[in-house]
Amino acid sequence: MSHQPIMSHQRSHQEFERAKRLMPGGVNSPARAFGAVGCEPVFIASAEGARLRDIDGNRYIDYIGSWGPMILGHAHPAVTAAVESAARRGTSFGAPTVAESELAELIIAAVPSIEKVRLVNSGTEATMSAIRLARGFTGRPKIIKFAGCYHGHVDSLLVAAGSSAATHATPDSPGVTIGTSADTLVLEYNDSAALAETISRHGAQIAGVIVEPVVGNMGCVLPTREFLAALRSETARHGALLIFDEVMTGFRVAYGGAQSLFGITPHLTTLGKIVGGGLPVGAYGGRAEIMDHILPAGKVFQAGTLSGNPLATAAGIAMLKLLRDEPPYERLETLSKRLADGLTRAAAQAGVPHSVARMGSMMTLFFNPDPVTDWSVADRCDRAAYGRYFRAMLERGIYLPCSQFEALFVSSAHSEADIDTTIAAAKDAIK
Ligand SMILES: *Cc1c(COP(=O)(O)O)cnc(C)c1O
Repeated sequence: MSHQPIMSHQRSHQEFERAKRLMPGGVNSPARAFGAVGCEPVFIASAEGARLRDIDGNRYIDYIGSWGPMILGHAHPAVTAAVESAARRGTSFGAPTVAESELAELIIAAVPSIEKVRLVNSGTEATMSAIRLARGFTGRPKIIKFAGCYHGHVDSLLVAAGSSAATHATPDSPGVTIGTSADTLVLEYNDSAALAETISRHGAQIAGVIVEPVVGNMGCVLPTREFLAALRSETARHGALLIFDEVMTGFRVAYGGAQSLFGITPHLTTLGKIVGGGLPVGAYGGRAEIMDHILPAGKVFQAGTLSGNPLATAAGIAMLKLLRDEPPYERLETLSKRLADGLTRAAAQAGVPHSVARMGSMMTLFFNPDPVTDWSVADRCDRAAYGRYFRAMLERGIYLPCSQFEALFVSSAHSEADIDTTIAAAKDAIK
């Protein structure tokens, strides 16, 4: 591996210079700028299966999969065909279509807690709307969230928000007023005692508790059984809504999301990423009695000009049917375990302090000797070591998340040979 020629990133460099003149930081979403890993982004020309190709002609084995959606690999023929055929019939009508009901039926059949669903355009819109609904339904103001969990860039949730926010050390963004964040209470993940204490103290004020049932946005962090049980019992006891943010875990850790694995039924669930098959889609849903508070059935306002548009629904339907009819989850488990074991061996062999966390096909190699259970532990990771690892892997043709605090994703398009190539690269790269 060490004899391979140095890659050229000349064209990416030129394009980044151009983009920086046109867009803030040269990007349309901050994590893409590679700022946290001390290098410049590569510009992607195309992707197929588990492979990315950049505009300098370099090829990479991809472990971000567009940050989650591409669980079956890039440019899956069935998804591409569905989008092409929908595009020929018109890209948006702003009027009801049969495809919206088809996607809704697939979601409702898949996710145990969802009886009715509303389609939106992003994960952020889904969480923003779910929070509004929780407040509208309960008539209460406050929301509990957990440090290191990211729920999109909703003002009231942009407090101790993991990944991009944490990496850029701006957990509270300028522009989010004290008034807005005052109704958000932040607790440490997996801290059942603090949850019980806070809910009993503020009980009648708390509209809902929003949580990533498996965290992807401070790196992969798993919930304890006790924490999951406390989430369910404490919200039930005090009449607060439990909101599972499954934008990342939905259709990823299992077809029915983390709630189907854990046997826990939240009141509301938010979805995104995989549910759109790579197009901009989000969704939120839950018990019919709660969802019927949304306009026009109820009074809680929420709308979207392009919501449920034909391209997005076509991609989502194609994706969910593939996942339902030929579930990739066993294969993903086998491949992902092989990768996690290999990365653990590579770090151990190099004598680097590390811990690896994994749930199905999402995982993180933490440059941290301790198992990461919450943000206070995650925050002690050696970010510089992660940056060196990231850059060395990129040069070896492995495209990892450009932050210690983002999970990597395996897709069903990865082969065992891809996994073994990746492990070999890691043995070479981790110093
Ligand atoms: C990605 C993500 C979001 C935000 O989704 P966008 O489509 O980027 O707005 C919200 N919650 C979780 C858990 C996510 O991983």
